[in-house]
Amino acid sequence: MKPASLRSIPAVEKVLQALGTHDLSRPVVVAVVRRELAALRSSRKVPGLDTVLARIRHSLEFLRRARIQPVVNGTGILVHTNLGRSPLAPAAVETLTAIGSSYNNVEYDLSDGERGKRASYLEHNLAILCRAEAATVVNNNAAALVLILRHLCAAPKCDVVISRGELVQIGGEFRIPDILEASGARLREVGTTNKTLICDYEKAIRRETALVLKVHRSNFFMEGFVESPPTEQIAALARRKRVPLVEDLGSGAVTETEKLAGLEHEPTPAEVLRHGADLVCFSGDKLLGGPQAGIIAGNARRVAALKREPFFRALRCDKLILSALQTTVDLHLKGDSLDIPVLSMSGISMDELRTRAEHIVIALAGLPLKAGIGAGRAQMGGGTLPRSVIPSVTVDLTPEKVALPEFAKRLRESVPPVIGYISGGRFKLDLRTIFPRQDQDLVRAIRLLSL
Ligand SMILES: *Cc1c(COP(=O)(O)O)cnc(C)c1O
Repeated sequence: MKPASLRSIPAVEKVLQALGTHDLSRPVVVAVVRRELAALRSSRKVPGLDTVLARIRHSLEFLRRARIQPVVNGTGILVHTNLGRSPLAPAAVETLTAIGSSYNNVEYDLSDGERGKRASYLEHNLAILCRAEAATVVNNNAAALVLILRHLCAAPKCDVVISRGELVQIGGEFRIPDILEASGARLREVGTTNKTLICDYEKAIRRETALVLKVHRSNFFMEGFVESPPTEQIAALARRKRVPLVEDLGSGAVTETEKLAGLEHEPTPAEVLRHGADLVCFSGDKLLGGPQAGIIAGNARRVAALKREPFFRALRCDKLILSALQTTVDLHLKGDSLDIPVLSMSGISMDELRTRAEHIVIALAGLPLKAGIGAGRAQMGGGTLPRSVIPSVTVDLTPEKVALPEFAKRLRESVPPVIGYISGGRFKLDLRTIFPRQDQDLVRAIRLLSL
C-alpha cells in the first residue's frame, strides 16, 4: 500500500477536469500537470487540491506568457531588440499573408518555366537601394559577417585588421572579436581605444592580411580625445595594399536619418560604398525596418563569390523573410519609407502624442491611481543612434495601493502585455512606440488590473 501522503496526490484526470478548458493544447496541459504532480511526490507534505491547482495554473500561465505574442511597447525604444526590433510595414504583412498561404515562385523562373534564381528581384532592388553593383541576403547581420570572414580568410591570409576602438559588444552575447575568432580569422588590432590613425592601419597590413574591417560602434559613442580615419582614407590605403575593405554598418539606415526628428546622421550603405568600401553589411530589421536579415552589398565579383560559398546555403533566408524584405525595400525605393513603422514613429508630432495621452488619462478616471501626462525621451535603440534622444510624451501612472514594481509586473502579465518603465517614482508609458490602435488595449489592460 502507498504511504498516506502519496495516496493524497490527486489523479491526473481529476486535476484536468478541475482545471477546465484552457487555450493551451491538451498534451501540453497534461505534461505540465504530470510534472507538477511528480514534484509533489518528492515533497514531504502534499498540499490540498486547491493549492495544487493554483500551482498548476501558475505554471500554465507562465508557459502561456512565453508564447510569442504582440505586446504594447511603452518603453520609448523604437528598435527594441527584446521586443522584436522593427515592426513590419502593413504592406510587408500583406505580402507575408499572400506568400505564406500559397505556392510562390521563390526559386522558379516564370519566363522559361524552369528552376530560377532565389531572390533575384530582391537582390536586384537591394543593389539599387544601396547604389551597389550587387547585393545579397542571409539570416542576419552576424551571419553576413561570418560568411564574409570565412570567405576572405584562407590560410595563409587570415589577418583581419581592425581598430581597437571598434572591438565592440553588441547586444547580449554578440562580440566582434568572438565572431572573428569563430570564423577562423586572426585578430590584428590596431591603434588604441580612443585613437586609431591611418599609419596604424598601414603598419599592420602585411602579406597575411585577409581584409581590413571597419565596424560601426552602434550602441555607444566616444567623445573627447578621439580620432579614427574616415572610410575614404582607409579605402585608399586598402586599395593600394590590394586588400579588401569591409564595413559592418549595423543599423542599415538607407534614409537620411538627420531628416527624421532631428536625429544625428547615420552612415548609409550607399555612402560607405561610394567612399570606397568593397563590401558593406547591415541588419534588415534595424533602421531598414524589415524582417530579420543580414544584407551584403558591394562589388559584384565579391558578392557572387560569397554566394558560391557552400556555407551560404546554410545561411539563406526563407520565402517569408525574402518576400517581406522585398516589399520593405520597394517601399524605400518608391519613397514610401514613412509607411515603415520605426521611421514614421520617430516623426509623430508632440501635439498628436499629447492628444492621445489626454484621451488615455480621461479613460482611466475613477481607478485607484493617479494618471497624468509626462515628458519622455524616446530613442531609436537596437544599437543605433545612441546619441539621439527624441522628445516624447508619456502617460504617467502612480497606483495608490500597489507598489510600482508590482504594478509593472501586473501590466506585463496582462493580455496583451503592456511594457513600460519606472522613472522618478512613476510608471511611465511612452506613446511614441505605442501604435494608436493599441491605446484602447492599453486602457482596457489597466482597467482590468486588480489594484
Ligand atoms: C546589430 C549589429 C550586428 C548584429 O546584427 P544582427 O542582425 O542582429 O545579427 C552586427 N554588427 C553591428 C555593428 C550591429 O550594430
